[in-house]
Amino acid sequence: MWRYRDRNRKRKRSICVLSSSKSSKDMENLGQFDVIVIGAGVMGSSAAYQAAKTGQKTLLIEQFDFLHYRGSSHGESRTIRATYPESYYCRMAIESEKLWIDAESEIGYKVYFKSQQLDFGPANNSSLVELINNCKKHSINHQILDRHQTNKHFSGRIELPDDWIAVVTELGGVLKPTKSVAMFQTLAIKHGAVLKDRMEIVDMITDEDRGGVLVSSRSGEVFSGKKCVVTAGAWVSKLVQNVSNGGTILPIQPLETSVFYWKIKKGYELDFTIGAGFPSFASYGEPYIYGTPAFEFPDLIKVAVHGGRECEPDKRTWGVDKEGTTMVIGHLKEWIKGRFGDRVNWEDGPVMSQSCLYSMTPDEDYIIDFLGGGFGEDVVVAGGFSGHGFKMAPLIGKILVDLAVGGKMAGEKYDEEIKHLKLGRFEGNHKGNKKSFDDQVRLK
Ligand SMILES: Cc1cc2nc3c(=O)[nH]c(=O)nc-3n(C[C@H](O)[C@H](O)[C@H](O)COP(=O)(O)OP(=O)(O)OC[C@H]3O[C@@H](n4cnc5c(N)ncnc54)[C@H](O)[C@@H]3O)c2cc1C
Repeated sequence: MWRYRDRNRKRKRSICVLSSSKSSKDMENLGQFDVIVIGAGVMGSSAAYQAAKTGQKTLLIEQFDFLHYRGSSHGESRTIRATYPESYYCRMAIESEKLWIDAESEIGYKVYFKSQQLDFGPANNSSLVELINNCKKHSINHQILDRHQTNKHFSGRIELPDDWIAVVTELGGVLKPTKSVAMFQTLAIKHGAVLKDRMEIVDMITDEDRGGVLVSSRSGEVFSGKKCVVTAGAWVSKLVQNVSNGGTILPIQPLETSVFYWKIKKGYELDFTIGAGFPSFASYGEPYIYGTPAFEFPDLIKVAVHGGRECEPDKRTWGVDKEGTTMVIGHLKEWIKGRFGDRVNWEDGPVMSQSCLYSMTPDEDYIIDFLGGGFGEDVVVAGGFSGHGFKMAPLIGKILVDLAVGGKMAGEKYDEEIKHLKLGRFEGNHKGNKKSFDDQVRLK
C-alpha cells in the first residue's frame, strides 16, 4: 500500500540516549564528515565520488560487502538511451552520457560501450508516439523506420510485424554495472573519501550540538555529518521510516526480477555484437521487453521483460518462482522467435538467468528530494529508480551532492529535471505524476 506522510520530528530523546551512552572523549573522536552517503550502489557511489571531488570530507557506508549482488547495481550490463516518453529523462540521459565519458577518462578504463539504440513497437503505441515527439523536441538525431526499412537497416537481423515501427538513435549501448560502481568507489577514494562496508545504518537523528545529523550503525558506531545523502535502493523506505519514527513512508515497492540470457545459434554469433552494429533495444507493448547486444558472455544475448514480482529485499526467492518465470519465459520465447527468427535458440529457453531488484514508484518516476521535517535540508533522499536509473547515475550523484551541500537554491538549476521527482507529488495522490501513456512495468 502506498503511503506518504511528512511529519518528521526532531528526536531530542534519541540524542540524549546516544550522548549518554558515549563518553565525551568518544564523542570528540566520532567520525565527522561534511557529507555522509548511506548505501553504496551506483547512486551512492556516484554521489560519494561527486562529493569527494568537490572537496567535501565524505563517508560512504554500505550494509553488505562492496560490489555485492543483493541490490540493483550489480551484474554485467545496463542499457543507456536518451529515448524516453517522459521529456525530462531525455535531457537527463544526454547530460549523463557526458558525465559517464568524463568519469571514464578520469579512471582510465571503459565502462560504457556505445551502440545504436533501437526502440520499436506498434505504430500507435502511446509511449512510442511520445518518445518520437521527445526526439524532435530535444533535437535527438533519429530515424523512423517501417518494418522493411528496419530489416534492411539491420541487415535482416530484426523482423517486425506489419503495423510496427522502429526508432533508431545514436545514444545507446551497454554500461557495465559492477565495473561502474567499482569505478565510482575508486574515484571517490582517489579524491579522499572514506568507504566502509558491512555496516548497516539503523538510525539517524539531528545533531543539536554541531548541526547536521548523527547516523548510527547496528554495531554501535556513530558518525556526524553536516549533510547526509540516503541512497539505500530497495531498503530506502524501511530506513526512512525508521529514521523519521514512522513519519515518512516512501511509496516504493521492491520487485524481484530476472534477466535472461539466450544462446545465439551457430553461424550467427557475431551478428548480435556491438562490433557488427547490433543495437541496445526496447520493445514497447505488452509486455515491455528490452535487451543488449551480445557482449558480456560469448554467444549469449540478454533479452528480458521489464517487470517483476513484489518482494521483501531480504527475503527473496532468487528467481525460483515457477509460475511467474514460466509465464515470462513464454512471452520471451514468442518475442525472440518473432523478432530474431531462427538466429537465436528460443526453443530450449534461456541458458542463464540473474536475479535483481527494482524499486518501483507508482508512476515509475524517481524520488529525489529533501527528507524535510526535523531534518530540513540536511538530508537528501534518492530512490524509486523503477528499473531505469542506472544510466542516470553520474548526473544523479551530482544533483544529490549539489542539493545536500547547497540546499534548495543550488537545486534550482536542476528544477526542470527534478520538479517531477519530488515527494510532494504523492500528497493526496497515490499515483503521482499523470502520464498520457501506459505504465511500462507489469507485475508478473
Ligand atoms: C535486472 C535489472 C535491469 C536493469 N536495467 C537497467 C537498464 O538497462 N538501464 C538503466 O538505466 N537502469 C536499469 N536498471 C535499474 C538500475 O540498475 C537501478 O535503477 C540502479 O542500479 C539503482 O541503484 P541504487 O544505488 O539506487 O540501488 P542499489 O544498487 O540497490 O544500492 C543501494 C545500496 O544501499 C545499501 N543499503 C541499503 N540500506 C542500507 C543501510 N541501512 N545501511 C547501509 N547500506 C544500506 C544496499 O545494500 C545497496 O548496496 C535495471 C535494474 C535491474 C534490477
